[in-house]
Amino acid sequence: MTGPRKLFVKSYGCQMNVYDSHRMADTLAAEGYVETATPDDADLIVLNTCHIRERAAEKVYSELGRMRVLKQQAAQQGREIKVAVAGCVAQAEGQEILRRAPTVDLVFGPQSYHRLPDMLERAKSGKVVDTEFPPEDKFDHLAAPSKAATRKRGVSAFITVQEGCDKFCTFCVVPYTRGSEVSRPVEKIVAEATRLAEAGVREITLIGQNVNGYHGEDAGGRAATLGQLLHCLADIPGVARLRYSTSHPCDMDDSLIAAHRDLPALMPQLHLPVQSGSDRILEAMNRRHTRADYLRIVDRMRAVRPNIAFTSDIIVGFPGETDRDFADTMKLVDDVGFVTAYTFKYSPRPGTPAAEMDQLPEAIKDERLQRLQRDIAARQAAFLASQQGVTFDVLFEKSGRYPGQIVGRSPYLQPVQVMGPTSLIGEIASVTVTELSANSLFGALAGSLVSSLAKAPARADHPQTEAAQIEAAGA
Ligand code: SAM
Ligand code: SF4
Repeated sequence: MTGPRKLFVKSYGCQMNVYDSHRMADTLAAEGYVETATPDDADLIVLNTCHIRERAAEKVYSELGRMRVLKQQAAQQGREIKVAVAGCVAQAEGQEILRRAPTVDLVFGPQSYHRLPDMLERAKSGKVVDTEFPPEDKFDHLAAPSKAATRKRGVSAFITVQEGCDKFCTFCVVPYTRGSEVSRPVEKIVAEATRLAEAGVREITLIGQNVNGYHGEDAGGRAATLGQLLHCLADIPGVARLRYSTSHPCDMDDSLIAAHRDLPALMPQLHLPVQSGSDRILEAMNRRHTRADYLRIVDRMRAVRPNIAFTSDIIVGFPGETDRDFADTMKLVDDVGFVTAYTFKYSPRPGTPAAEMDQLPEAIKDERLQRLQRDIAARQAAFLASQQGVTFDVLFEKSGRYPGQIVGRSPYLQPVQVMGPTSLIGEIASVTVTELSANSLFGALAGSLVSSLAKAPARADHPQTEAAQIEAAGA
């Protein structure tokens, strides 16, 4: 008798890919596949690729070189391994992948992974490429995770609520690889969140390329905003923390800003990519907002949630960026007081408008990136240091590295380590920060288990202690 077939999925890039990988594994679990942590003993290897990083496709091809060796070794032992390339590189490269890497059996884009069982069937008799944008909703065809699979993934989970992008920033490939903006209906997201909460999930991060452009249908057939969706999710028993990522400044509407005022479950952190602090460059990037617009949003958010921490994505060295433009970016970083940021050196993506513009010398881009990164690193360290002595709520996720230690996350997603019982995993408890290391916080349980929060709806009429306590963090 043969055992279950083994699946190895490797995710590259963003949280959306991690979510997609989980959903592929859930769908294949229904087909008898179990996940394995290594490609060595897998029957099916899926590389779920990302196209955002520089030379993303080249990195995938070099990984496929390793897969070819693995496949040959397995064949010598009489085992067959199927290799699939999924995600945005698959979408962008399509057939080219089969030409350059004949070891690959299946190529499929982010909109097709619900067809995986059918594609595997077809792959028995030949290569399969599926980079269409199918008319059916893939989420309607995906298996839900079992309670056991959800528990194994931990107390914090992602839900994709929106996919694609219609913004067409001139540097970005996403609108081409992920297609136009589509939002899932409110009812289906609430059902998924309820299932997750019943399996022990306490924190849900809503994800989408343009998550605050969310406009899914509500029960009455009207388009709901992200703010309205967050209200529905905050009502689900067990959901104690809510986050969302990634947002576009143009879609920070009134209902979303009000949700930050009214829902203590909505964590006091906002990742809001600004990309540049120069109006000239913002326009060339087709970002459709100015630096003043961005600063207005920051002010409005701080007015409703004074302890909110802002993080961002910033690109340096965009075509035409002068020293003055770069200085405007550095000034904006200071004006906002970002607590950290993902920083990128502009690199041309084939097929995007900015790739056709006159490019800056690499040395200039490198120098600007280093200056920005030094500034951001100092801000990150200062923010961490500002937590010394502060008491806030921690959602405990797992055991720590040392006996008796458990690890959780602060409202700002910083890892917090304390000595405490494993029974606290999945619970929220109050912690006072006693020590700092380079990237994490060490604390002591402050005595109060805030577990009732995990059970009760997390709305303004059930205020969490952390909202008040974190004020002291001085975000
Ligand atoms: N949707 C988000 C937004 O509106 O900003 C994020 C999209 S993208 C997946 C993540 C980040 O990659 C972008 O915010 C941008 O900073 C960076 N990025 C995208 N294309 C880039 C390029 N050609 N060169 C450098 N960085 C890039
Ligand atoms: Fe890319 Fe974000 Fe711009 Fe859309 S809004 S094109 S995903 S950077």
